[in-house]
Amino acid sequence: MSVWAVLAAAGRGERLGVDRPKAFAPLAGRPMLAESLERLESSAWIESILVVAPPEWEEPVILLAEELGCGKVAASIAGGETRAESVRIGVEEVGADASVILVHDAARPLLTEEMVERVISPLNEGWDGAVPGLPLVDTVKRVRDGAVEETLPRAELVAVQTPQAFLARVLREAVADSVDATDCSSLVEAKGGRVKAVPGDPRLLKVTTREDLALVESWLNRGRRNG
Ligand code: C5P
Repeated sequence: MSVWAVLAAAGRGERLGVDRPKAFAPLAGRPMLAESLERLESSAWIESILVVAPPEWEEPVILLAEELGCGKVAASIAGGETRAESVRIGVEEVGADASVILVHDAARPLLTEEMVERVISPLNEGWDGAVPGLPLVDTVKRVRDGAVEETLPRAELVAVQTPQAFLARVLREAVADSVDATDCSSLVEAKGGRVKAVPGDPRLLKVTTREDLALVESWLNRGRRNG
């Protein structure tokens, strides 16, 4: 099995309010991207990494990868206007040898080897893809123009994270006629692909605000003190 990782890092991160793209926002003294890059590099599952960078930041990504000794980084390419567009650009650059593609958000720095294994393993059991999902604690309703239309069955709902892993041929086909989607799985689902939901990890929080960044930093520092 040859696994390529596509690291989506091209977001602007305007809600974070820093003077640089989100992937370069400081996290425990390093660009946030360093965390997921290093973790993918040290994963026994991952063979090559393709970074989708904020436009004009392709070179700083390569310099960071070199500084961290991330020899698995095959390329850094400029992303698009939306996440879906960035992922499509990344998937198109993945080597022909890849049998599995793992897509991960640089905005979720605390990737673990256990989670990489959790999403890749189902691909050996006949699934087309696997995604981590967290159960919802709140009741979820569909609302239109301020009026509640429906209460959704919470027991059937999960909040989906990354990393998401797919058979390479399935993901390639799904992103080819890419509509705007907030995750890759929805594109695979739309094509009739079978995607397994595996347990998510609350620490894979997506950094959106300064508060998220502070929380992830505190988890990271605690992990370092204990480990
Ligand atoms: O914007 P949001 O935080 O939801 O983005 C999730 C992930 O997708 C981030 O890691 C971000 O860098 C990436 N992204 C991207 N290209 C975009 C927008 C977001 O690669 N145009």
